[in-house]
Order: sequence, then structure tokens, then C-alpha cells
Amino acid sequence: MPRLEEALGAAAAKARNAAFGLLDLVVPPVCLLCGEGLEREGEESLCPACDDGLPSFSRPLCAGCGGAPVRSALDFCPPCRGTCSRDGLVVLGPFKGGVRDLVHAFKYRADFGAGRYLARRLAMRAAVELGQCCDLVVPVPLHRRRLRSRGFNQAALLARRISKQTGRPLLARALERRIHTRSLTGLDLRERKREVRGAMNLRRGVSVEGRRVLVVDDVFTSGATTEECCRILKRAGASRVIVAAVARA
Ligand SMILES: [Zn+2]
Ligand SMILES: [Zn+2]
Repeated sequence: MPRLEEALGAAAAKARNAAFGLLDLVVPPVCLLCGEGLEREGEESLCPACDDGLPSFSRPLCAGCGGAPVRSALDFCPPCRGTCSRDGLVVLGPFKGGVRDLVHAFKYRADFGAGRYLARRLAMRAAVELGQCCDLVVPVPLHRRRLRSRGFNQAALLARRISKQTGRPLLARALERRIHTRSLTGLDLRERKREVRGAMNLRRGVSVEGRRVLVVDDVFTSGATTEECCRILKRAGASRVIVAAVARA
């Protein structure tokens, strides 16, 4: 499927990118997962059965490892305390079942309806778990080479939607990835950290001094990439950095 994306030209990608914010008025509303017709018109959604079956975490997870259940989104399990730059983690659900299907549809098949739906759910979750505790929304950046092959940055589209829904300003290009890192799949945490260290930087002229930043990504795996983002933002004076991700792998 990613190869199909690569085959699409930059112009087509740009057009699809621009269409992300628009409502699709032609197609009658259907469930994003099973395709069953929906009774209610409006934003993209799931049928009640798919909605019920969507895997989700009932409790906040440790902001460090994303594994241990903790009391709040700003909490860490004992071994993770003091080990990260980030201050919190909000995540919708495990990377399986309907959550994984929606992420794949969005990321590899450019199903922007699925992206909007996930962003909406994540924004609601962040509001419930954090209240109004961020000033800025910043996506995890993609290297331009990967951006060219995929046609869009899924984290940036999620962040844009979350910004719109929460009313918090979006700094879409605050972070840039200057080094094209290899895929982190199959690497352990130490290798992942080494791989992403120094791969990103804060764009010149961007100020996050004293601001509370929500860093948005699609899938939280080891946290190495988001951690590098948080480290840079903290070093630049951000007062608090929280990671919001659709799924935890
Ligand atoms: Zn359904
Ligand atoms: Zn932990």
C-alpha cells in the first residue's frame, strides 16, 4: 500500500492534503470501518457496533513507557520518573483492531475521513484528561524525503484538526527533521534513541518559551521520536510538553 502512495505525484498529494479540511458532501455517511450506512448526517463516524468494539484504554498510561496504568495523564510509573523530557501522555487506545484499521486507512490509503475521526477522538480525550492545559499544538515532523513519498504528514494533519477543535494555535512547522532516519522497526529503545538524537531541530524564529506544548503523533511505540521532540522543545524553554498519540503499539 505505501508503494501506491509513492506512485502518486506531488500535485495530487497536495490536492488531497488541501481537501483534508473539507466535508465530503457527495458520499452518504457510512461507518468508517464496516461501511454500513449511518443514520445521522454529519462528521465521519462509526456505527454503534464498531464504536463499541473500538479498543481503548480505560485508564491513563505512564507518560514514560506508555505501559503501566497511572492516576493521570501527567503521571509516571516509579521506574520512569525523572527519565523523560515529556510531562504527560494522552493516548486513545492500543494499536490493534479498529484503531489499527483506522490508522492504516489514514496513513497508507489516504483516508482523510479516518484521520479526522481519530483527531476528533484524540482531541476529546486530551480535553477530558488534561483540561485546558496546552497553549500550542505541534506535530512530530517528517523528513521531506518521506513527506514526498507519502504525500502528507499524518501527524501534521492530526495536529491541525486537534488545533481546530481545541482552539489552540497550531505551529505546524515548529520542528523540522533535518536527518532522514532509517525505519525504527526492529530496534530496541537505546538504538531508537541513538537513531533520532540530533535528527530534528526547532526552526529558526519559532519561540516556545514559557508555553505549554501538545506534541501530536499517530502511533506511540517506544516514545524515542516524540522524546526527541520534547527534549528540543524543553531546551527551547517550553514550560510543559505533553504527547498526544492515537495509538500505542
Ligand atoms: Zn461499523
Ligand atoms: Zn513507565
